[in-house]
Amino acid sequence: MKLLDGIKLSNEIKIDIKRQVQALKKHDITPGLAVIIVGDDTASMTYVNMKSKACDTVGIYSIVHKMPANINEQKIIDTINMMNNNDNIDGILVQLPLPNNIDESKVIQAINPQKDVDGFHPFNIGSISLKLDGFIPATPYGVIKLLKQYKIELKGKNVCIVGASNIVGKPLMSLFLNEYATVQICHIYTKNLKQHTLNADILCVAVGKINLITSDMIKEDVIVVDIGINKNEQGKLVGDVDFDDVSKKCEYISPVPGGVGPMTIAMLLDNTIKSAKKRKKDE
Ligand code: NAD
Repeated sequence: MKLLDGIKLSNEIKIDIKRQVQALKKHDITPGLAVIIVGDDTASMTYVNMKSKACDTVGIYSIVHKMPANINEQKIIDTINMMNNNDNIDGILVQLPLPNNIDESKVIQAINPQKDVDGFHPFNIGSISLKLDGFIPATPYGVIKLLKQYKIELKGKNVCIVGASNIVGKPLMSLFLNEYATVQICHIYTKNLKQHTLNADILCVAVGKINLITSDMIKEDVIVVDIGINKNEQGKLVGDVDFDDVSKKCEYISPVPGGVGPMTIAMLLDNTIKSAKKRKKDE
């Protein structure tokens, strides 16, 4: 078993991004990211802080707009519009989930697709499914980058994705299809999950359920990408895959922490730089 090391690759990407930021600064462009967070969910705050810290490390300017959970939807949209019209802001992201009283899709659709560095706007989701240029959601983008770094062939492979959310599973399905893999996507109503996972050459899991995948559900020498993030009873971060059990049987596995998580942040920075570079072209 070999590890898909997301820390090593994300650090390499961040070094390269830092270089690109320095080059942009020579053209008087400081890439800027605006993050909007609504409510005081601890996990969301942690993610936002990690994103801001990563921006600082590479020299991207970042601003966090904190809003109370009871805020009116229009106020969030007004803030997004302000950022849409701010030439110093290249990327806008709204930390999800939003409180139940707020229409998530309406808020996401308020973001200018040219600044939608999370890639959740229908325009960008559509672009990736048509293999057109657009922002690729950071987590699925990170998964593909990680597999490519280890020179894992995707063409013609049987890929099974467990989890079909709009932000992870579905865009990941499009990305694998674009690489000519054969994709099966499973979700909570999938009957006999094991029958599908056993067929996989590459298994990606994004559910949010500890030990959902065990060694009896995979074939020998499979490549496992664990996207899930959970806290176990001891308060330790773990994925959706029973790591100790599955790692004995697979060829590669991404650890949690240290796999897809750091890649997600690196790809968000990459999207922000991509957006800032458009400013240079527009000069
Ligand atoms: P979500 O709740 O939006 O979607 C979960 C998906 O899993 C749904 O499609 C649901 O149908 C499916 N599902 C639920 N129970 C299932 C079961 N028993 N069998 C098969 N499918 C089942 O979640 P999400 O936002 O896509 O996140 C999924 C996981 O990935 C979470 O643990 C989240 O924390 C993690 N995540 C990690 C990163 C990262 O950077 N590593 C980024 C985003 C999400």
